Amino acid sequence: MQTTWLTEFYRFLGFGALVVVIGLLTKQLLIVLLIFTFAYLGWFFYNLRSMETWLRVDKKYAPPEAPGVWGDMLSNIYALRQRSRKRSKRLVKLLKRFRQTAGAMPDGIIILKGQGDIDWWNCKAEALLNLRYPQDVGVRLVNLIRNPDFIACLTGTSKEPNVTINSPFKDGVKLNIRPIPYGKNQTLVMVRDVTLIYEVEEMRRDFVGNISHELRTPLTVLSGYIENLQEDNMENPDLERALELMGQQTHRMRQLTEDLMLLSNLENNSNTTNSKRQVVDVNHMLVSLKEEAQILSGKRNHAILLESDPGLNLRGDPKELDSIFYNLVVNAVNYTPEGGAIRIRWYADTSGAHFEVNDTGIGIPGHHLARLTERFYRVDVGRSRASGGSGLGLAIVKHAVQQHRGTLRIDSEVGRGSTFIVDFPKDLLVWHRQPLEIEQAG
Ligand code: ADP
Repeated sequence: MQTTWLTEFYRFLGFGALVVVIGLLTKQLLIVLLIFTFAYLGWFFYNLRSMETWLRVDKKYAPPEAPGVWGDMLSNIYALRQRSRKRSKRLVKLLKRFRQTAGAMPDGIIILKGQGDIDWWNCKAEALLNLRYPQDVGVRLVNLIRNPDFIACLTGTSKEPNVTINSPFKDGVKLNIRPIPYGKNQTLVMVRDVTLIYEVEEMRRDFVGNISHELRTPLTVLSGYIENLQEDNMENPDLERALELMGQQTHRMRQLTEDLMLLSNLENNSNTTNSKRQVVDVNHMLVSLKEEAQILSGKRNHAILLESDPGLNLRGDPKELDSIFYNLVVNAVNYTPEGGAIRIRWYADTSGAHFEVNDTGIGIPGHHLARLTERFYRVDVGRSRASGGSGLGLAIVKHAVQQHRGTLRIDSEVGRGSTFIVDFPKDLLVWHRQPLEIEQAG
């Protein structure tokens, strides 16, 4: 570049000098200079024009031949154009490939921009949500799916990362929708048809529920006979021991079937259609639960303390609430060694009502906490069996808490004890007197 400019400069100087010499020789310096200037300008405009024509019309082809700096300029522009053409070709290819991949995906994908306006979607999303091109481009997705749970999930007001709703377009179809925000004000929405998974899950629940129900009668008959035989006092220690063991095992089986049935009922209920809601006197429930816990503790002599707000009631299902309180308190008794302390609390604050059970028991290692509410998940199977546990207690608690739109929090330290806290939403609270705390906060 530098050399081309120098050559151009020297050429100009050379011509200039020649023109001055001719001018001096012909004694017409001014006229010769004028002619030279016009000729130079003419050449300049000629090059400018060929460049403009090439840029406007023939830019796909190689640039026209031009001397010196003009030639350099044209070939640089040409190289730049070639590079950018290659880059855009690559981008177009990439975009095509992205669209093909997104189109082949078994899930629906919708891209939203700005305030949740639909920007693009794939074929599956079109089929699942009846989207039409071009009418639905720019339409707000919440105007097509007017489901409050979905809106809460999309706007981020609910804590759940995805939501399962009944399809607004096809009866009997369940859709799982997951919004994933990315970039600047953009959201990728994944839509999946989960009808089949739901149906299989429903079949599983029905199967467990039915089998537990069917086992109930034979087990009742069996334990009735065992009790009768035990009462008959046969004076045969071996038989007595055998009957005692049979009695214990049938009791365990009955407990298991009861728990399974309860769990299956809880899973089948939807918290919105729950018609068993009533105002429950929680304090009253807890007072008798404390007495039961004291009996269960027996010789282990736990110090059981109850701190409960007697005016604080809850709108809910009494049976389910009893299951929550009972399972958590019984666990605290079962997993706290002799002489330990158990504190049960029932109170409210501005965020809602809270049921808390704190024990100074064996505690739970941190890596078990996340899986504790799974069915039959036990930290120590032997210990759980020895204390008569079925491994279903916390699964029941979790589902019953969900039915009341609550959350279960678990905090534990091995060797120091555990705290289980159930948070109930504010709108389920029913006061028998005005709560001072909430008055102040409100
Ligand atoms: P289980 O019938 O075995 O008690 P749960 O579902 O009630 O079943 O509890 C699951 C597991 O969680 C228990 O087996 C036990 O290992 C652990 N666990 C529950 N509560 C406590 C507690 N208060 N202290 C220590 N471990 C507990």
